[in-house]
Order: sequence, then structure tokens, then C-alpha cells
Amino acid sequence: MNPSLQGIGMTSQRTRDRMVNRLIEQGIRSKKVLDVMRNTPRHIFVDEALASRAYEDNPLPIGYNQTISQPYIVARMTELLLNKAGHLSKVLEIGTGCGYQTAILAQLVDHVYSVERILPLQKKAKNHLFELKIKNVSYIHNDGGWGWPEYAPFDGILVSAAPPEIPEALLQQMAMGCVMVIPTGESGRQTLQRVIRSDKGYEVEELELVSFVPFLSGRE
Ligand code: SAH
Repeated sequence: MNPSLQGIGMTSQRTRDRMVNRLIEQGIRSKKVLDVMRNTPRHIFVDEALASRAYEDNPLPIGYNQTISQPYIVARMTELLLNKAGHLSKVLEIGTGCGYQTAILAQLVDHVYSVERILPLQKKAKNHLFELKIKNVSYIHNDGGWGWPEYAPFDGILVSAAPPEIPEALLQQMAMGCVMVIPTGESGRQTLQRVIRSDKGYEVEELELVSFVPFLSGRE
């Protein structure tokens, strides 16, 4: 890895190892997810002034009133997506943000289709993934409430902003066996949900309480 990607001090491999040890203590079990998070430099996804805090277990600001999700949430959502599905070939992500979750996902599935409504954030994410030479991602600047019908159906959907209810278009774009991980509810009282589509319909599991930025409509 080139030196700026590798990091030093608070952005070094040792700091990433400590983050992964904390994720294990917090209950993350998927070795695949832990390995990818151990090897992906998170500090390049935030402004340089915040780089030394990139591995703390907090969300951090990425501009435009948005935040990079905390490491635990990224790990948990990715694990929830993968552990019911085995191999995933097409995954829809809503809320590219700075692209960190996108980068983790892209190393674990065949292709990620990522939707972001704020154009400058999408541009930043593209640059970060280019720097990491991650190429199996397609990006669109749009309101993720519409999903991405041209590439549907998907076998995984991961949503990083919280709508009041699951958007109908996303349910429709789930293939049989598809797993969707999505926070829903009003700000301050959201629940993480996992939805699995089978021939019997949609099975919904309600998981832990979480705190996400709101899912907004339209584009900026
Ligand atoms: N996984 C991202 C999370 C960023 S915060 C990261 O770790 O950086 C959530 C993101 O969802 C923000 O970038 C926000 O602009 C985006 N978002 C919110 N509502 C959206 C919508 N309807 N469609 C697409 N993106 C949306």
C-alpha cells in the first residue's frame, strides 16, 4: 500500500487492528467482514483534520450535514446482509456518502450499485474508491427512494439513511432470497430491520435501536 493509504500513528495498521479488536468485543463475528475492515484505510474517507479520529467508534462529519457511519454500524449491517445470503452478486446501496461502506461492500460482493442524492458527496466517494482501485461499483446521483430499476432485481440491499417506512420501490426491487438491511423510524428512535424476501412473502426482523441521518427525497 502507498504510505498515505497505509497511514501512520493514529491512522496506522495498529490503529486499524485495535478497531477490529473492538468490533469483535462488540459482537461482530464475520471473519470476512473483519478482515476487509482491517485492511481498508478508513482515514482517507474523512477530511485530513479528522483523520486521527477516523478509527474511533463514532460517526464523523463528512460535510453537507451528513456523517460517515461508525465502524460498528458498518460492520453490523454488512454482516447482517451477508450472513443470510451467502454469496451476493448484485447489491444496491442507498446513501453512498463518503463511500466507506461502499468500499467495504465492494470487497465482499460481485458488484455494488450505489445511489446518492448529494452530488458533491458522490464525487468524493468516487475519488476515494478510485484511489483504492475498487472498480466493481456503479454510481448514480438520484433519490434512492426509487431504487435503481434498470439493474433490479438485487440480491442484497443496504440503506444508510432512515426513512419513516421502507420505500415500496425497494421492496419491489428485491429478488427472491434477497436480503435488505435498513433503519426505519423517526430521528432519535430508529430500528434496524432485516427484510428477507421468499416465496411466502417478506419476512421482517426488528433488530437493535440505531441513529441514522434521515432519508430525504429529491436531489441536491
Ligand atoms: N454509508 C455512508 C453513510 C453516509 S450518511 C458513509 O458511511 O459515508 C447517509 C447518506 O445517505 C448521506 O450521504 C445522504 O445524502 C444519503 N441519503 C439520504 N437520503 C437519501 C436518498 N433518498 N437517496 C440517496 N441517498 C440518500
